[in-house]
Amino acid sequence: MKAHDGMYIDGTWRPAAGTGVIEVVNPADEEVIATVPAGTVEDVDAAVRAARAALPAWAATPPAERAARLTALRDVLLARQDEIARTVTAELGSPLKLSQAVHAGVPVAVAGSYAELAAGYAFEERVGNSTVLHEPVGVVGAITPWNYPLHQIVAKTAPALAAGCTLVVKPAEDTPLVARLFADAVHEAGIPAGVFNLVTGLGPVAGQALAEHPDVDLVSFTGSTAVGRRIGAIATGMVKRVALELGGKSANVVLPSADLARAVNVGVANVMSNSGQTCSAWTRMLVHRDRYDEAVELAAAAADKYGDRIGPVVNARQRDRVRGYIEKGTAEGARIVAGGPDAPREKGYWVSPTVFADVTPEMTIAQEEIFGPVLSVLRYDDEDDALRIANGTVYGLAGAVWAGDEAEAVAFARRMDTGQVDINGGRFNPLAPFGGYKQSGVGRELGAHGLAEYLQTKSFQF
Ligand code: NAP
Ligand code: MG
Repeated sequence: MKAHDGMYIDGTWRPAAGTGVIEVVNPADEEVIATVPAGTVEDVDAAVRAARAALPAWAATPPAERAARLTALRDVLLARQDEIARTVTAELGSPLKLSQAVHAGVPVAVAGSYAELAAGYAFEERVGNSTVLHEPVGVVGAITPWNYPLHQIVAKTAPALAAGCTLVVKPAEDTPLVARLFADAVHEAGIPAGVFNLVTGLGPVAGQALAEHPDVDLVSFTGSTAVGRRIGAIATGMVKRVALELGGKSANVVLPSADLARAVNVGVANVMSNSGQTCSAWTRMLVHRDRYDEAVELAAAAADKYGDRIGPVVNARQRDRVRGYIEKGTAEGARIVAGGPDAPREKGYWVSPTVFADVTPEMTIAQEEIFGPVLSVLRYDDEDDALRIANGTVYGLAGAVWAGDEAEAVAFARRMDTGQVDINGGRFNPLAPFGGYKQSGVGRELGAHGLAEYLQTKSFQF
């Protein structure tokens, strides 16, 4: 057990204002592995003041120099990949292989992509008789969740730094350790004091203080729709910019011409990865009635193979919540064909990889975000029916379409109300804009579209 001290503010670890601490628990065995200070309004205020003071110089730093600092940051993240992976596994519970490939690997790619974007971006353009400047928005307050703890921090920090913004990050209370590691990496990369600041703490205290701080110009939030709605209201009331990455209930649409086994196996892997704690997971699989029984059998067999290899969910509250949804699914008439409410291990926050068949579109498990390893398989009659079901939730974050022919899949994907669609198992692209239609959010992250969120325009007419 390690008792960590301090907040990273103005380029140094300085003592927290209060005495409260947060216990960090390993979800695999419920052991307390560390404590971190619980930030207060005073800590947030000190961090925002440091970010404000550092803003003019960082905003005026040539983009090529900001790019060089981001390259250095990328290199530090790369050099520390093992330590990052072990830390995420300890506080999130994800299997080490996933932590290495995704939790430690993706942030390296994203930091690298923003080093390149900062170097090449047109921060000034000519429009008719005007010159348009793309200037940093200012001080950013970033509030991040635990599910991809380092990725979510880097997906906000890297574009903010590329744009010339300074920021204060409030990471999730469940995963503060990798956030602290990241602050060390920022320091090692030579990013000037005050440009990046970290305050660990509880959402309703430190998170809320950050969102409400009058000297924060943009609030960038990723997490639940319930908290996102509150933050949106606070930011709008204070006329701040706001970006919200919220929940999802994405559809994996298997058209009749698809390679069924591949579509189902990749679909199940997508949902079970990270124990189902992925906002863009394809938690609803839509299959034509003629191939439905075969798909259900394949999905059940695929899920059974995972057992406890997917890792636990993050905490007891999430475990109870996910189990509650599994019980609700049964109560509403869906049929469990793999897994169920019983945990595969006694100690730790484990949930069995679960597949439901005979799920109808209006059931709770087909409408609400479960955020656990639970897949619903739904039946459709024809393409219009599939589209109606796919688009029939309040969310619109991601999705997938499978067909024998790519053009057929694309034609369907064009009609989906969602921000990203993977065609026949397309690969993750760190440069593609990520973000939601409908109640999945406001704004985009990653790539040039993610950078634009941190910029505001000024135009000179000649
Ligand atoms: P959450 O409460 O929305 O947490 C996200 C972040 O917001 C955390 O840093 C949290 O701090 C902070 N926060 C909480 N209340 C706040 C407030 N009143 N003001 C400012 N910040 C606040 O999400 P969660 O409780 O960890 O997870 C619940 C559900 O959210 C999940 O089941 C899932 O459906 C959804 N979720 C979605 C995503 C996504 O990527 N879209 C990610 C994670 C969770 P604390 O850590 O201290 O709570
Ligand atoms: Mg919470």
